Amino acid sequence: MADHRNIRELDLTELKAYFEAIGDKKFRAMQAYEWLWKKNARSFDEMSNLSLDLRKRLAEDFSFNSIKVDITQQSADGTLKSRFITHDGHLMEGVVIPTEKRNTACVSSQIGCSLSCKFCATGQMDRKRNLHFDEIYDQVAILNEQSLAHYGTPLSNIVFMGMGEPLLNYKNVNRAIERITSPDAMGMSPKRITVSTAGVAKMIRQLGDDEVRFNLALSLHAATDEKRNRIMGINETNNIDALVDALNHFYQKTKNDITLEYVLLRGENDSLEDAEELVKVYRKIPTHLVNVIEYNQVEGIHFTKSDEDSTQAFTDYLAGKRVNVRVRRSRGKDIDAACGQLANK
Ligand code: SF4
Repeated sequence: MADHRNIRELDLTELKAYFEAIGDKKFRAMQAYEWLWKKNARSFDEMSNLSLDLRKRLAEDFSFNSIKVDITQQSADGTLKSRFITHDGHLMEGVVIPTEKRNTACVSSQIGCSLSCKFCATGQMDRKRNLHFDEIYDQVAILNEQSLAHYGTPLSNIVFMGMGEPLLNYKNVNRAIERITSPDAMGMSPKRITVSTAGVAKMIRQLGDDEVRFNLALSLHAATDEKRNRIMGINETNNIDALVDALNHFYQKTKNDITLEYVLLRGENDSLEDAEELVKVYRKIPTHLVNVIEYNQVEGIHFTKSDEDSTQAFTDYLAGKRVNVRVRRSRGKDIDAACGQLANK
């Protein structure tokens, strides 16, 4: 009766029904469930308190679509980048960024990306497919194991800022976060999770309607439609006014944090006029923070990072207008692990 259903699609009740149907004891279901979600097993072989025969039977009846680490590189600044391989041979990447107070995992939500933002390495690749919820979960579990092994402490934060647009893989991202935050699985606080979007207004509203408990970051990167259309094609169908409305809706419904992300590109969006426009957008959104991000050079892309003086003048201007601004310096540049550089190299 091989149905080859993905075993991680089953909830505990369905697992119990399965064990009963094959004439085994119901408590075996609990043991298997713990292997899946508490001990983060990634194969039936690891389930050592189940008999060999039972493990064999499970492998006959179900698939286990776990991901594997292909290679891991460590940057001079301690950042770890891993390339993962999926059960059907696709590659994608995840990063752990250690700082004094926190270890943040940056995870991917899709293989490639369909949005083609002009400054981003992932955007130069085609979107192959969405990641399934259990693949996203595996990524976080593996990065957590790496965090413990390399820095002695588990992940404290997770950001969905790796490859792909998370809100175009809405169901799987939400389902993965449900597992990551569930007490019967990883049990992380949703307040430590941030989903970053290039700006899909309809799905931002949906997050509000679904009353999610995690935080949201908008990759704004330009504060007028004219400029934003030029560097982020998605703005043509999701303009700044639509995003402002959607973010206000999200905040009204959830009261969760909203951050604006703004990567500084030399001569493109880093003038004082750009800063002035950014202040106008900031005032319309219930956001508490603007992260100004240092751009990382990407091979084959003509943008360069803003120079020190312009960066300073830009952030001084914002601070002078009482904008809560933080500069995010690049991490993991030497291994292409920095923001916008993920491209399976
Ligand atoms: S910045 Fe994000 S949404 Fe834009 S192309 Fe890169 S991965 Fe896709």
